[in-house]
Amino acid sequence: MGKRQEPKLGDNDMRLAKKRNIKSEYNMPPEVDPTPSGVLFETDTQTSDLGLDKDVSVLKKATPRKHEFVWFNILWFLFLHISSLYGLYLVFTSAKWQTNVFAFAVHLMCAIGIGAGSHRLWTHRSFKARTPLRTVLMIWQTMGFQDCIFEWARDHRTHHKYADTDADPHNAERGLFFSHMGWLCCKKSPEVIEGGRRIDLTDLYADPVVMFQKKHYMKMMPILCFVLPTMIPVYFWNESWMNAFLIPTILRYTCGINVVWSVNSFAHAFGYRPYDKSLNPRENIGVWMICVEGFHNYHHTFPWDYRATELPLYNMLTPTIMFIELMAKIGQAYDLKSVSPEIIKQRAHRTGDGTHHLWGWDDPEFNEKLKEKYATVNYEDKNVE
Ligand SMILES: [Zn+2]
Ligand SMILES: [Zn+2]
Repeated sequence: MGKRQEPKLGDNDMRLAKKRNIKSEYNMPPEVDPTPSGVLFETDTQTSDLGLDKDVSVLKKATPRKHEFVWFNILWFLFLHISSLYGLYLVFTSAKWQTNVFAFAVHLMCAIGIGAGSHRLWTHRSFKARTPLRTVLMIWQTMGFQDCIFEWARDHRTHHKYADTDADPHNAERGLFFSHMGWLCCKKSPEVIEGGRRIDLTDLYADPVVMFQKKHYMKMMPILCFVLPTMIPVYFWNESWMNAFLIPTILRYTCGINVVWSVNSFAHAFGYRPYDKSLNPRENIGVWMICVEGFHNYHHTFPWDYRATELPLYNMLTPTIMFIELMAKIGQAYDLKSVSPEIIKQRAHRTGDGTHHLWGWDDPEFNEKLKEKYATVNYEDKNVE
């Protein structure tokens, strides 16, 4: 049997339906057509220095909208943050040292699961990984409880492709709080849903590890994120239930989500833009020190680069990058992608804000003629916001 044809309704019917608050086609998302404001993969690039052939700064926007709050999430975040403060107090007053070390170790595993796994491997395809490594990263990613890999990668691809527009899930144009955690306190807008729908996810569907986690996520996540981190300290070194629940579980989890949120908020608001000044994401050393991920202008300019930055010292001090390189040495990771210094230099000259440590305004090679050649953005504005 074919699908039943819905009768066409006139204006009067629509008004009546709205009055009675009938949930039907009237509540369907409006027609939205998000325009990409960022590159996601090398295949998206349009210029020789791997950018888009347009000034994306004009696409940044946040159309005013009435947010529909998700009260469950709001109460959950309130509980997490208040109980974490008590957990932090317990770290210094009553916890055994083993519990604190264990909490840090779990935090590190989650950070690598999310940073190397759902971020650099599955969202950006910046390297390839063999099944044992993908399995370990999937387990650590589940322990971090920030949605399954499939959803995390879809939302993060949407963030890069439509960065700082209405289709960006945590659009920084809506302010610091919205891009930090506000976006999780309300329902997704039709633009975000449409943006996500337009993202190609065929590689994720083809990965059995990702599909296994997606299928069993709600069974695995509570055990890995909450039950095991609480039980291990109690059974192995006789920690109290309260300390075991509040430190390696609640405090560790709350720190983990805030680390990722800070990159979306602070690193989109404060810092320099030596690679592309038309993008909001910035190089923020403060965010890097706390989150060990904060070279966000570099990351949004060249998202498929497995490195956090072009600066070797900071990569050497970034656990996610150290882990990927270690895995490459033992053959678990391969085909690591990075961008050549020539391209980076070319791009910094053309679209940077002049703050690049080598190729900024002080570079003698960056003369007026070169500036004119590369000028697709307004170089008058030397000030960094
Ligand atoms: Zn970002
Ligand atoms: Zn990214």
